[in-house]
Amino acid sequence: MKKLEMLYEGKAKKVYKTDNEDLYIVDYKDDATAFNGAKKGTISGKGVINNKMTNLVFKYLNENGINTHLVEELSERETLVKKVEIVPLEVIVRNIAAGSFSAKYGVPEGTELKNPIVEFSYKNDALNDPMINNSQIEAIGIATAEEIEEITESVKKVNELLQKFFLECNIILVDFKVEYGRCKEGIILADEISPDTCRLWDKDTREKLDKDRFRRDLGGVEDAYNEVWRRITSR
Ligand code: ADP
Ligand code: UDP
Repeated sequence: MKKLEMLYEGKAKKVYKTDNEDLYIVDYKDDATAFNGAKKGTISGKGVINNKMTNLVFKYLNENGINTHLVEELSERETLVKKVEIVPLEVIVRNIAAGSFSAKYGVPEGTELKNPIVEFSYKNDALNDPMINNSQIEAIGIATAEEIEEITESVKKVNELLQKFFLECNIILVDFKVEYGRCKEGIILADEISPDTCRLWDKDTREKLDKDRFRRDLGGVEDAYNEVWRRITSR
């Protein structure tokens, strides 16, 4: 597989064309940003962990009936993926209140939610990724009602599978964000699943093992990413 020109450099990954028009290569960086790019830094070794962790998790989801963009891990930081047209939505699931949800609705961080919440943000940096509802998504043509339904059903299944997966590592899945994309096969799971995109707490101590350590200057950022990787590989 030949790596051709870079198509896009994002905040955490670079995306490259390949000599197969249906496939891209994603290359994971150590760059870290928060608050829509206002806070910048480096988490040493993060790119390697996020690449390998995403692939391990996608492989698990795949084995459990979720179609993902994963084709093949090429190196510590690079993975071959199916090219998709990203649906510009951050699809967020919450099991426990935290972050912007706690702030917006005044629900203390750590409060168990009576049901998993599925919510959407419009993926648009210039607009600061505003929260958006189903009828707004349809009205502006971001996705059809059928697509929203399909994504919602899929992400609920993903949540159940991920909760089970992380519990086996003594980790509580507080919340997470995923992205879906359109390709010949329909709508599939794309982008990444890593401590950058999930809130992961130790089940016993509730210690944060994710990007909140970076966002909130809690220290031990690299150690947390390494600990998650250690636990999921010895699961
Ligand atoms: P951001 O764009 O938010 O800064 P990244 O640095 O992670 O995020 O950049 C990766 C980009 O690649 C994201 O915009 C993501 O939507 C996109 N992407 C992820 N998987 C695929 C795929 N299989 N095909 C096309 N684009 C993808
Ligand atoms: N998230 C993400 N990318 C974003 C926004 C959120 O991966 O651009 C993840 C975040 O890591 C958390 C979940 O989505 O696991 C919910 O985030 P929230 O809405 O609480 O926003 P935040 O507090 O991160 O601003």
